Amino acid sequence: MADPRIHPQTLCVHAGTSGEESGALVPPIYQTSSFRFESTAHGAALFAGEQDGYIYTRMGNPTVAAMENAVAALEQGHKSLGCASGMAAINTVFSGLLSASDHVVCSRVVYGPTATLLSRIYKKYGVTTSFVNTADSKEVIHALTPKTRMVFLESPGNPTIDLADIKEITQAAHAGGAVVVVDNTFLSPYFQKPLLLGADIVVHSLTKFLNGHADVIGGIIVVKDEDRYQVLRKVLNQTGGVIDPFNSFLVHRGIKTLSVRMEQHARNATAVARFLENHPGVTWVRYPGLKSHPQYDLGQTQHSGPGGVMAFELKGGYRAGEALLNRVTLCNLAVSLGGVETLIQHPASMTHASLGREERKAAGVTDGLVRLSVGIENCDDIIADLLQALEQV
Ligand SMILES: *Cc1c(COP(=O)(O)O)cnc(C)c1O
Repeated sequence: MADPRIHPQTLCVHAGTSGEESGALVPPIYQTSSFRFESTAHGAALFAGEQDGYIYTRMGNPTVAAMENAVAALEQGHKSLGCASGMAAINTVFSGLLSASDHVVCSRVVYGPTATLLSRIYKKYGVTTSFVNTADSKEVIHALTPKTRMVFLESPGNPTIDLADIKEITQAAHAGGAVVVVDNTFLSPYFQKPLLLGADIVVHSLTKFLNGHADVIGGIIVVKDEDRYQVLRKVLNQTGGVIDPFNSFLVHRGIKTLSVRMEQHARNATAVARFLENHPGVTWVRYPGLKSHPQYDLGQTQHSGPGGVMAFELKGGYRAGEALLNRVTLCNLAVSLGGVETLIQHPASMTHASLGREERKAAGVTDGLVRLSVGIENCDDIIADLLQALEQV
């Protein structure tokens, strides 16, 4: 575990630097499938786990390991496992820890494919899931049964930016013997460390803030203890959803600027949220940095910054959402979040368009809901773009 006295900005720059034999300052890209054995005895010792070393990149690679060490240090975890995507990370945790007849309690507002994985794929294998409002800890506690093996939280949640009380929910889940998994993608370890709040496992889409440059798909699992690391490592090695060395290199490079990016994301997003809150065309803004967020006080106790993602509701509903998105010029119409550029998304006409109106409503997606991932541009330019577009709505 990383020395807790080291400041997070320093960790971002230095965490995970490899003990590279060549003296390379930056861990090189080991673009290789296999690693040579010195002898049959050496190969046998590596396979038996009697000696440390690399065999085959699906089972481990030094470039991947350097990035994994960096994220584990930032989360104050024990070890981590780099995965091909955020969904590969989540799927590895589910397939490693869930068995037939287990029960899961999951946030009702959760990244869409996470919900689908549980309600369609794992359901086939006999896992049942209760989707509850995790903004209300009592609802979570009420949903726990003797068969509950896992509680899966996303805080802030997607796309409604609801928070879950990680500490309170974890205490209740642990009392019943369930593990708590937190998807920490929205805030990154720079602003929130769920393991320090009691959670057992953290997952990330590295695609978002950790890489930060919208040019990689990746994911990671961070664990607190060696036993669970070994269980999940074997599942990942066998199912094969690993990240590759080049993407690991890019993510590790992105992490070095995580602190400056997160600070600028939060500064910009706070200014944009205040602007939107005062605009007559906007009904409400949901952002953890605004005092008007119903869980503002909870946020102050469990994260050190509000991140860069918000949701807001337009007075003009569906039409206004479409109109706004077709009139912005600086903000990019694209899914994903956490990159240096500002992205705007209208779930009702984009990501959630295939759902019926009622199904959308159940997921917290109203017709005028817009999600904004505020980038690190000058915030005056972002606000000017939104202002001119809102005037035409
Ligand atoms: C994007 C995202 C994921 C999935 O990550 P991928 O890298 O796209 O597979 C999971 N959870 C949250 C909160 C996300 O935003």
